[in-house]
Amino acid sequence: MADYYKTLGVNKNASDDEIKKAYRKLAHKYHPDKSGGDAEKFKEINAAYQVLSDKSKRQKYDQFGSGFEQMGGGFGGGGFNSQGFGGQGFDFGEGFEDIFSNIFGGGGGRSRDMRKAGNDIQVDVELTFEEMVSGAHREIDLYQSVACDVCGGSGGEPGAKQETCSTCKGSGQIHKTVSSFFGSFSQAYVCPTCQGMGKTFSQKCHKCRGEGRVKQSRKVAVDIPAGISNGQTLSMQGQGEAGERGAQNGDLYITVHILNHNKFTREGNNLLSSEHISFSQASLGDKINVETIDETVKMKITAGTQSGELFRIKGKGVPSLGRTNRGDHLLKIIVDVPKNVSRDQRKIIEQLGKAGL
Ligand SMILES: [Zn+2]
Ligand SMILES: [Zn+2]
Repeated sequence: MADYYKTLGVNKNASDDEIKKAYRKLAHKYHPDKSGGDAEKFKEINAAYQVLSDKSKRQKYDQFGSGFEQMGGGFGGGGFNSQGFGGQGFDFGEGFEDIFSNIFGGGGGRSRDMRKAGNDIQVDVELTFEEMVSGAHREIDLYQSVACDVCGGSGGEPGAKQETCSTCKGSGQIHKTVSSFFGSFSQAYVCPTCQGMGKTFSQKCHKCRGEGRVKQSRKVAVDIPAGISNGQTLSMQGQGEAGERGAQNGDLYITVHILNHNKFTREGNNLLSSEHISFSQASLGDKINVETIDETVKMKITAGTQSGELFRIKGKGVPSLGRTNRGDHLLKIIVDVPKNVSRDQRKIIEQLGKAGL
């Protein structure tokens, strides 16, 4: 059984951040396109990351081990857990799902499509504040399963004949007597030779060895809409790993991370920043330069401006997601009180004091 923590070289209590860092480092090192890359290792690292980076998958993995993914939808209502069966010792291994569906009224014995659907892929993309406002285009490099171009995903060598499966005689299932926790059953299993399809090819595709999919590098272009929020995830249906022999593809999930800006913060669709002015500018008013996300603008500070006062620059904020109307830029004015004053300045300030300021 694969130990995903070991694969990524992190301990069981590793934070999301540590996991991500470890993954990035290893994925970089073993990427098959690089010299010294290792496709097999890369695959393992990705499998581990796909589980450990997903909160609910990681939780299930910690509880059940790597077998949890194979359990798939077998739990139906999802109301059962290992405690429900009163024991850590219960075996969730092969055949469990079939036994389970038989006992609990599922239609055991019918032939089922056992081709594996493709896994989802999760990637992270970083955007600058400017890109958050303008939208961004990215080409994402993936190394993933795609439908085999030789057999078109069928798994059969071009020109090969489709034949009735010799293992199951075309029924898609075989019968076995199984002893289990619940007693002995004559159990129908999905035929391992044809995976329930009842047919096999006289010759398997030489490229994918009958799987109908192959791993390869691929670029996916994605347009990230203006106004996207930090942590938001875009999904691209069917852009994940290819399924086995034409089974459904997984999806691609792109989580957007917006880098901090040294000048601006975001609040809703508004951008916030602050500018410092002097006591005399605040008292008498002035025109100052204000940096917005688009350009530097001149802004009039009214006489008598208080420290902490907000000025609004319309339309220089963040667009509503996928729309053109934008929020505003809110500028907070900070009036500086001088810390060190020269003797001359001191005299003037004393004068101001005498004048009642
Ligand atoms: Zn093929
Ligand atoms: Zn068969």
